[in-house]
Amino acid sequence: MRQLELFVAKNKGSPASRGGVKIEEITCRSALQRPPWDEYTLNPYRGCLHACVYGYCRMMQRFEDDPPPWGTYCHARTNMPNVLAREVKRYPPKQVMVGSVCDAWQWPEKYFGITRECLLILLKGGFPLRCLTKSDLIRRDFDVLSQYRNMVTLGVSLSTPPPLSLLWEPRASPPEERLKILAEAAQYGIPVYLSLSPLLPGLGDDVDSLSALFARIRRLPLQGLWVDLVHARSGVWRACYPLLAKRFPKLLPLWRKIFFDRGEAQRYAGKLRVRILEAAVRSGLRCRIDLKGYEVARRCGR
Ligand code: SF4
Repeated sequence: MRQLELFVAKNKGSPASRGGVKIEEITCRSALQRPPWDEYTLNPYRGCLHACVYGYCRMMQRFEDDPPPWGTYCHARTNMPNVLAREVKRYPPKQVMVGSVCDAWQWPEKYFGITRECLLILLKGGFPLRCLTKSDLIRRDFDVLSQYRNMVTLGVSLSTPPPLSLLWEPRASPPEERLKILAEAAQYGIPVYLSLSPLLPGLGDDVDSLSALFARIRRLPLQGLWVDLVHARSGVWRACYPLLAKRFPKLLPLWRKIFFDRGEAQRYAGKLRVRILEAAVRSGLRCRIDLKGYEVARRCGR
């Protein structure tokens, strides 16, 4: 534990730990989760220090007793590699999404190395991986990912351009850095994709902003562009409302409609689809574009 304390102290004051964070070791009984859709998920950490305001990952707090605010804690599942090593012998090999409700490369991973161990166990066990991150620590694992490039896709996720990104995802690596990661990974021969998850309504979802972004990525050998829309799930409205009210009050009516009115949400999604396609044509982006549908709020928020 002393080592962990030293590690945390060393990172104190860095942008990644801004505002104070709590890191703890815990154990888990299972590693691979099997949600209703068709891939396993693997989350080596409970909680995520990137603290994205819009993140539906915060819904996982429903399973915790009296949790601290989202984004201020990270619980490392330190026995996960041992548990996983048993599971890969029992479960049929299928794609694994690494980091569905946490960033598996958030900065405590530098100390624990749980994600890296799990990657090796899964790849040697024949399980293909879909990795998604907002952290530059992923560079550490380019060696493993490129060695198994036929079994791996690596994506980074963006939501809104800087400087707004600092408000909405305060501790993630800067968007510029994430785009560099994609370019570097591609040079290693690792198949890459970009996930706009989610695009924030009124904050970079116009044709000009999208065209500018697409122009920057059009030369990358992208497997696809995955566009996700803001999720109106448990706690997300409650988390977004104060920031919207303080910094973007003019957007409140639009966001409210999207969260609480199914018809309006679908109309917004339709308009966004048109804008994305127009921006792709304008910028010369040629890759598969996957636009997911809206999940409309069940008034679970404020
Ligand atoms: S990086 Fe992903 S998992 Fe982490 S807080 Fe942001 S949205 Fe949630």
